[in-house]
Amino acid sequence: MALIVHKYGGTSMGSTERIRNVAKRVAKWARAGHQIVVVPSAMSGETNRLLGLAKELSPAKPDIAYHRELDMLASTGEQASSALLAIALQAEGQPSVSYAGWQVAIKTNDAFTKARIESIDDKRVRADLNAGKVVIITGFQGVDDNGNITTLGRGGSDTSAVAVAAAMKAHECLIFTDVDGVYTTDPRVVPEARRLTTVSFEEMLEMASMGSKVLQIRSVEFAGKYKVPMRVLSSFTPWDIDINEEAASGTLITFEEDEKMEQAVVSGIAFNRDEAKISVLGVPDKPGIAYQILGAVADANIEVDVIIQNLSKDGKTDFSFTVHRNDYAKTIDLLQEKVLPALGAAEVTGDAKICKVSIVGIGMRSHVGVASKMFRSLSEEGINIQMISTSEIKTSVVIDEKYMELAVRALHKAFDLDQA
Ligand code: ASP
Ligand code: MG
Repeated sequence: MALIVHKYGGTSMGSTERIRNVAKRVAKWARAGHQIVVVPSAMSGETNRLLGLAKELSPAKPDIAYHRELDMLASTGEQASSALLAIALQAEGQPSVSYAGWQVAIKTNDAFTKARIESIDDKRVRADLNAGKVVIITGFQGVDDNGNITTLGRGGSDTSAVAVAAAMKAHECLIFTDVDGVYTTDPRVVPEARRLTTVSFEEMLEMASMGSKVLQIRSVEFAGKYKVPMRVLSSFTPWDIDINEEAASGTLITFEEDEKMEQAVVSGIAFNRDEAKISVLGVPDKPGIAYQILGAVADANIEVDVIIQNLSKDGKTDFSFTVHRNDYAKTIDLLQEKVLPALGAAEVTGDAKICKVSIVGIGMRSHVGVASKMFRSLSEEGINIQMISTSEIKTSVVIDEKYMELAVRALHKAFDLDQA
């Protein structure tokens, strides 16, 4: 018998039919003798629908009173799905009770719409589990010190589930979703992509931050910090699939690196089309320029990713970096208006049609020549690399967007990721 947290995403909770299916699956786990806490998302589309209603009445405002009401509003999506699941479980003959975040309580700070969990009191939940109930806790929400309802940011139910699992020292946190695990890359780009049976939490962090949107990235950080074993698996298998088979399915996010020693050096290829490149040309090469350029960008709350500075020639250098594509125009304007005149730089140019492709693997720590193999493979395809950045477990290149799929396929093959 173990305490296990199940999280079900919006698609899995998308209709009464699907909620009934979730109930049958959860009841199966409870019948097998496990204590189950379920953290559901709102029914798919519900959070968007609710926030859309607010927008009809008033456009988004950077105003605390407004954000407080957004949380009051959006949190109802999870309250409804949680109650519906409890009703469905009871109909299956499985005693069950649902709680909103404030009833548990899941305490957060007061940053409405992007609150962070500070503590979870598990007393009430434990008592119910010990009384044989399945306990359902709304995902995505909590309560601040003043009793205001808060939400954790879009996709936040993953983080709720991991936080509950951490607080209750659960044996595992099972994230049931509409895909059957984490893949070596997006199967829509590379049909040969394979499901990984395990992935280290650090690799998952890199993959999650680069477009494989299986999990909210904050939930992975949380799992890493509190060492919560987390498994991503499908909620679209028949609910009565053998429980042992189900318990071993999907992708397990691990913490033991030793297990991975014998495995592939590169675990996955991540890519991201959301970036844009900006270059400041003819910058005087003197102390403080990086600060002058990137400081102004940071002050405008724009996040910068890959950065390069060229060797200088005749006391001038070129400086390039990438930002999110949504921030592209804003960054160019900012540099042209404020930074260029102060800096005495010649010109700002940019390219929004780029993408970032990365190879990710903890095996890269202990192997040399991994990056050069990447570069060779890209050169064999005639793909020009515009920027490179590396970390201990990742090498990323910025290339022309039109070569993205070609690059991902070539790298997937070069690193033998299509072979089990
Ligand atoms: N319902 C929330 C959202 O759509 C939270 C979640 O589903 O994780 O963002
Ligand atoms: Mg989600």
